[in-house]
Amino acid sequence: MNEKNKRPVYLDNCSTTCMDSNHLERINEVMLQQYGNPSSLHQFGTEAYKLVQDARYAAASLLSVPTETVFFTSGATESNNIAIIGGMLGNPTRGRHIITTAVEHSSVLEPIKILEKELKFSVDYIYPDPSTGMISVEDVLGKVMDDTAMVSIMSVNNETGNINPVGAIAKAIRHKNKHTLIHCDATQGFGKIDTSINSMDVDFLSASSHKIHGPKGIGLLYVKQGTAVKPLKFGGQQEGGIIPGTENVAGIFGFGLAIADASINMRQRFNHVKDLKEYLIRLIADKYDACINSNESSSPYVLNFSLKGIDGLDFMDFCSENYLYLSTGSACTRGAASNVLKAMGYDQTRTQSAIRIGLSHNNTKEDIDFLISLVDKYLRKH
Ligand code: PMP
Repeated sequence: MNEKNKRPVYLDNCSTTCMDSNHLERINEVMLQQYGNPSSLHQFGTEAYKLVQDARYAAASLLSVPTETVFFTSGATESNNIAIIGGMLGNPTRGRHIITTAVEHSSVLEPIKILEKELKFSVDYIYPDPSTGMISVEDVLGKVMDDTAMVSIMSVNNETGNINPVGAIAKAIRHKNKHTLIHCDATQGFGKIDTSINSMDVDFLSASSHKIHGPKGIGLLYVKQGTAVKPLKFGGQQEGGIIPGTENVAGIFGFGLAIADASINMRQRFNHVKDLKEYLIRLIADKYDACINSNESSSPYVLNFSLKGIDGLDFMDFCSENYLYLSTGSACTRGAASNVLKAMGYDQTRTQSAIRIGLSHNNTKEDIDFLISLVDKYLRKH
């Protein structure tokens, strides 16, 4: 509990973020008063359609892409599944080889496994370069063949915050094989660092609303103009027929508000979390026997570190009892050993004592001080 203003301390913003209460009020208004179906041709439907289009415009502006290339989904999991499975089913002549990384989120790794098992695709998994913690251009390029139909690489890793050189990788791939489709899971970067298509030149990009203080259950998929993609659900013509079904208008509207906020405040929020992360690293380095698992150029929103004398899961429970929330890795794998830290080549001791901090603009130095006080308390007890 933050002693100053008596609130729980939330340091798990990679898992999800809290919503802005002003946005919540406006979303409620939409649900109660503007509940038309965007596909209805009357005035009430047109108003709902306009709300969806405004959010699409906000997302497209942030990505620097045409509005009609942005499709709303139920979250990044769905976006990743459509990009990977729908992208491959829609482009059967491009090849049957996929390249991805060993540190992707499960919502990328699992659909790729389906293609491997059910459709006999071959897959190469690239490991982070141990000297940088990042995926290297050369390692990816070395695996690109004539038959490579897709390369899927995340922008920011959800456990370490390490940022991959997606722009440079995409450029090199385009040069070697112009038929290879490129997908980027930008879930942890969208709205936080530059994920514009100008800077990355990918064919598909996934993002999620609840990582940037928007409502849960909403995400987006960017599909480059002219790129074929097969839907994974079938029905109406909503979202270009790629994601049929009546749109979650209030959720999309809320996502649009969060995108607008993130766009306006990106620099200021970035600097704020950067200060907090540097403050935390200084304290850890001064006080404890620690290994920092995030590299120096990692996203300021994420810090992963291992502390001698700490069991990550046990420490997480201890913090939780004291109303401070953090994690040891991806929430989606519910405490399973981290595939990311293992792929980075870290031994079991380092992996087991790892803690992931996810920061947001709502966090303060007092939150960090409280975390440090809990580390002290834990180490005294153990
Ligand atoms: N990719 C990454 C990198 C993520 O961190 C997450 C969320 N943990 C997802 C995909 C899935 O996002 P969603 O919860 O919106 O399905």
